[in-house]
Amino acid sequence: MDNLSQTIIDFVMCEGFTCAAGIATMETLAGGPPTSDITYVLPGAKSAISFAIALDQSLIEPFLSKKDRRSYQHDHIHAHYLSSGLSFELASHLEQRGYPSRPLNSNNSYRTDASPGGPFDVIPDISLRYLAVASGVASFGLSGNVLRKKEGAAIVLGGVVTSAELEPTPPLPAEENYCDACRLCIASCASGLMDPEEEARVTLGGREHTYSKRRSNLRCEYVCGGFTGLHQSGKWSTWSPGRLPIPETDEEFMGALAHGIEVYYQRPLLDGGFYSPLLDKRLGLTCGNCQIVCVADKEERKRRYKMLTSNGCVVQNPDGSLEVLAPQEASERLAAMSAKARALYEV
Ligand code: SF4
Ligand code: SF4
Repeated sequence: MDNLSQTIIDFVMCEGFTCAAGIATMETLAGGPPTSDITYVLPGAKSAISFAIALDQSLIEPFLSKKDRRSYQHDHIHAHYLSSGLSFELASHLEQRGYPSRPLNSNNSYRTDASPGGPFDVIPDISLRYLAVASGVASFGLSGNVLRKKEGAAIVLGGVVTSAELEPTPPLPAEENYCDACRLCIASCASGLMDPEEEARVTLGGREHTYSKRRSNLRCEYVCGGFTGLHQSGKWSTWSPGRLPIPETDEEFMGALAHGIEVYYQRPLLDGGFYSPLLDKRLGLTCGNCQIVCVADKEERKRRYKMLTSNGCVVQNPDGSLEVLAPQEASERLAAMSAKARALYEV
């Protein structure tokens, strides 16, 4: 590897904040979808540096089993801020060495010109997943999330696009990809984002990758955004206290989301959280289940799925605090609310 490429990888890895780093180039991204086009953010771009930050595995069980939401949320947001900060530092370093560069936000930065819904369609400037797969940082799982043997899908990605001509790193070999199509990611998603039947195929640098076709991004926005969270079985929920119905078809989601946002504005705030450019009110982390249920050890995956689906449903108290109740008790709690209070959570 040439000196500059080596220095850049060391820049990202040396302090131990990241668990993997790699380099993708115009050639190794060639043939990819529009969000793999690095010249979208930097005309004249030649390469992109990709890296991953591991989430704290010890906080996943308490989150999935609905014992502690706040600690996982904190770790998740911290990892995103660390990722975006590292991208900013690296881009600045490259700029000062004479290579125009552009840091990529780890999340919450969307194209405004790519689709009729603009930023509400949550199409990123550049897909960090494509950079990660092309550069050997991670591989696609059936979920469409990217996986690493050690960390599972519980990673936060980051990246920088640069005009420097860096040396590409190869994609991970097939034997590094532990996805066995168990479909627990699909079963863990109350929104139905991942199509259970159809596959998506993506070619990057001549290599084909497959994962489940994603239906409308509004599905994840509606559930992962915290507007609703009750699974259609009625037996478990995300950390969202919302029980708004989850539509069948993609076309119905814009209306459902609009209503979800309207009532969300009137609900008490959750602890901590983050701001999305799409909303004036702070959001809390209530899902991410497809990501954190997925680890290489299949027995552990099943255990995590069981934790998620056997620990009841979340309701919200008037002071904003969340309480976890058995499914029937949760229904009764809602039924006992005044009509006005209840309308904030269910129709
Ligand atoms: S949960 Fe199962 S099917 Fe989904 S990505 Fe992970 S290993 Fe693959
Ligand atoms: S984050 Fe939640 S709502 Fe979004 S795809 Fe994953 S499981 Fe589904």
